Amino acid sequence: MALCLKQVFNKDKTFRPRKKFEPGTQRFELYKKAQASLKSGLDLRAVVQLPPGESINDWIAVHVVDFFNRINLIYGTMSEYCTERSCPIMSGGLKYEYRWQDDSKYKKPTKLSAPQYMCMLMDWIEMLINNEDIFPTRIGVPFPKQFQQVCTKILTRLFRVFVHVYIHHFDSIINMGAEAHVNTCYKHFYYFIREFSLIDHRELEPLVRMALARGGGGGVVWAGHSTALGLDSEQC
Ligand SMILES: [Zn+2]
Repeated sequence: MALCLKQVFNKDKTFRPRKKFEPGTQRFELYKKAQASLKSGLDLRAVVQLPPGESINDWIAVHVVDFFNRINLIYGTMSEYCTERSCPIMSGGLKYEYRWQDDSKYKKPTKLSAPQYMCMLMDWIEMLINNEDIFPTRIGVPFPKQFQQVCTKILTRLFRVFVHVYIHHFDSIINMGAEAHVNTCYKHFYYFIREFSLIDHRELEPLVRMALARGGGGGVVWAGHSTALGLDSEQC
């Protein structure tokens, strides 16, 4: 147990090195293009659209890696507030509980604490995005058939980090002055997954409910997605 806890709170594991795109590669150029339009102040809805002539899989690959880096950093920054004691179950409020499953240690969906779940999640994504068979980086090597399916799963699980952080640690986000940063990352993520229909609507429910419950006021979880999903827009 002591070993496990030590591993969970190991900062080197939490603050993973960013996955970088190799300069000179096509994906590096695409990443720079995406970053430039992000910084240009353009509407985030426009920023996520596939640039003409680019491949959809390259575009998705660049964003999955970028969102992984940014969400990993957001969680890492506030991980000291998310502990075995504060969050013994990985959840999004009382109604939503997330169980971990993978192909190795947890073959059946298993209840984990939030920090354990996050640790498994970040390790799992890191393993996938560094797997050349799934995220090929060499020129001329095609993406595998299941590429978008894998990305859907990665993004669905990354969304749960937002759910947990927003619902259980929003006070910490405000105290750190990170609210605007987290909200912008969330909006960008949300527009991206909507643009390419990458996450099932049901997965989005916890934050839609939260936005509706709080009336979307005060910058608390941007409520735009409630309207986008055709839910009660009066309160948004
Ligand atoms: Zn937590």
